[in-house]
Amino acid sequence: FRLPDPRNEPNPTYKRGSEERNKLEKALVKLRSQLPVQSNIVYDGVAQKSAESWDQPLPAEHGTVFTNYPLATKEQTKAAIESALKAKREWEETPFVDRAAIFLKAAELVTGPYRYDLIAATMLGQGKNIWQGEIDAAAELADFFRLNCNFAAEILERQPTRGSDGMWSRLDYRPLEGFVYAISPFNFTAIGGNLISGPALMGNVVVWKPSPSNVYASSLVYKILLEAGLPPNVVQFVTGDPETITDVALSHRDFAGLNFIGSSDVFRSLYGKIGEGIAKKSYREFPRVVAETSGKNFHLVHPSADIPSAVSHTIRGSFEYQGQKCSATSRLYLPESRAEEFFSALKAGVEDITMGNPEKDLEVFMGPVIHRRSFDKIKSVIDSCNKDPSVKLIAGGSYDDSVGFYVSPTVYQVDTPDHKLFNEEIFGPVLAVYVYPDSEWTCTLKKVDETGGGFALTGAVFAQDRRAIRQAEDALRYSAGNFYINCKTTAALIGQQSFGGSRSSGTNDKAGSSDTLRRFTSPRLIKEEF
Ligand code: GLU
Repeated sequence: FRLPDPRNEPNPTYKRGSEERNKLEKALVKLRSQLPVQSNIVYDGVAQKSAESWDQPLPAEHGTVFTNYPLATKEQTKAAIESALKAKREWEETPFVDRAAIFLKAAELVTGPYRYDLIAATMLGQGKNIWQGEIDAAAELADFFRLNCNFAAEILERQPTRGSDGMWSRLDYRPLEGFVYAISPFNFTAIGGNLISGPALMGNVVVWKPSPSNVYASSLVYKILLEAGLPPNVVQFVTGDPETITDVALSHRDFAGLNFIGSSDVFRSLYGKIGEGIAKKSYREFPRVVAETSGKNFHLVHPSADIPSAVSHTIRGSFEYQGQKCSATSRLYLPESRAEEFFSALKAGVEDITMGNPEKDLEVFMGPVIHRRSFDKIKSVIDSCNKDPSVKLIAGGSYDDSVGFYVSPTVYQVDTPDHKLFNEEIFGPVLAVYVYPDSEWTCTLKKVDETGGGFALTGAVFAQDRRAIRQAEDALRYSAGNFYINCKTTAALIGQQSFGGSRSSGTNDKAGSSDTLRRFTSPRLIKEEF
């Protein structure tokens, strides 16, 4: 067989009056008229009820409930796991072409009939603007479904050296022996699609717990997969209190793999629990642990940089989607000789940023942050910086939660990169800047590596001088899993820039490549003599 060649889904323009713009506007009106939308726990192919439920408010208008969804009980979580295990054998024996066909069809549904419903759900539920909704819930989701088929095929076609006469060796890429537990974050609807499709394409069954703040759009992704022909028990959709569900999943004997994207702190506690389980011999096999977590991502500007370009990349890297991408730029190192020029362009650019409810004005650059907890955390950082005499406000520094969770794009300058603004993840639109003396370029390279709170997700150098680029690439070898030259730290494209970080930023198994799919296999070597 031959799969379609890898390709990235193109993004429509959404120009006023265009067909796609009209369709999206209709989808937004339809979704608004249905609020609050109901989401469900689904296992055994059936929507399950629960006595307790949670409401997620609209981030842009917190007085309105966006979605209501049930909290799975321990018993329901156990039942979901058992359903997955029941489906395991049949799914694993389903030929790869049939598994791939389901995800290829799902990609067609995502980019065809469901495109605008998915984007509308992500705009309302996650507070994304039209572009951020499109690149996530339409293009990247379809890219993950399609390209994961190519990545899976790459693995399945891999074979060891054939050996000599009279002997044949081959690898049987078995799935893991139990179930995979996938925990997806709020900030990308596409990521949920990746965390389940990768393992499922390799023949695994999955219990999927979406973030409590991305349940509705995730439930649409799940619905699409069922419509594309995914047998109901291959993936279970379990919503609710993360701790309750996770405790049951991680204490199950057949827990065989974790596919996680979220914060480093949550990952540390999951890793600890899995470690305890391993020590107590609670699992049938050593579980695979795949995680992409937090970051404190840098832009390092060299005196030779093209400043207008570095400024525009910095604005996009720091403030698109309100700085709520794991990859968002949050620390900036500027050379003294170019600082004034950079600051004046940065201030002008930040002042031009529009902010508001993306549902009402589709073209605002920034919407609200996701929820009260996040707003309060960013607010406390801003309050403390506004009082700190060692911190200089360059732009923004305000917030407003009267209607939705709005934080203005904010830039602070600190006098040392050891300041906590350079070392703690905020997950919001706050950029910290440190100005270094040009003569200290080499020391600054060292500082970039040593600061950043122990994270190593993404980073970028801006320079025209090739020697400087070479020095940065060498000195910052371990400072970022994704290293960019003359472009921002965000927006890795599936199949082109595989994505993941090391140190406190995750296990670096590179989403958007075959590396991550390989982790959800347990190959058996078969040697046969003739
Ligand atoms: N892959 C995304 C990017 O490159 C970030 C994913 C995340 O936030 O986890 O911007």
